[in-house]
Amino acid sequence: MYDVAEQVVQVLTGPRPLPIVAAGDPVLRRSAAPFDGQLDAHTLAELIAAMREAMLAAPGVGLAAPQVGIGLRIAVIEDTAAVPEVIAQARDRRPQEFLALINPSYRPVGEARSAAYEGCLSVPGYQAVVNRFSAVELSALDVSGRALTPEFTGWAARIVQHEVDHLDGTLYLDRAQLRSLADTASYQTRWGGPSLEPARRALGF
Ligand code: ZN
Repeated sequence: MYDVAEQVVQVLTGPRPLPIVAAGDPVLRRSAAPFDGQLDAHTLAELIAAMREAMLAAPGVGLAAPQVGIGLRIAVIEDTAAVPEVIAQARDRRPQEFLALINPSYRPVGEARSAAYEGCLSVPGYQAVVNRFSAVELSALDVSGRALTPEFTGWAARIVQHEVDHLDGTLYLDRAQLRSLADTASYQTRWGGPSLEPARRALGF
């Protein structure tokens, strides 16, 4: 019988940082199960700490439990990357404190959307442009079961939408403008600037 608690214990006794599952693994295409106490408080805290460690080691700014092979609606986010001010302004990217999100969902705040390059630890080596809501209100539980309803804007709103997508079996490429697809070297040398216009013109998206 499939026992997620046993599976988590197995993952936690394996190598660290936790290996990240790549696209092609069905766990990334399934809707994850709501967390409803399948793990005791200690195991839940240990899983979240291990997910944070894997996210920071990658390095990345978000990680969902299916990305470490666990089909539960749990994600972590944290963005401490030092980005140049011109990029921070263009992407509305400000430091995001560490948050563990349990059973997260969101609703858009307003109609505004913004397009930016993003990548995914489960699709290593590539970046593509995704159009996402500019602001969202998150609804989630924290690790002690308290309800959180913070609002996120800009880059943090992008991270939240990307992670909730993972819990629904959606990868960012499903929503990307595929003509923008760039390998990391090409992205860094050509398209990492504050404006998407040069990439739009040259790649045709
Ligand atoms: Zn991802």
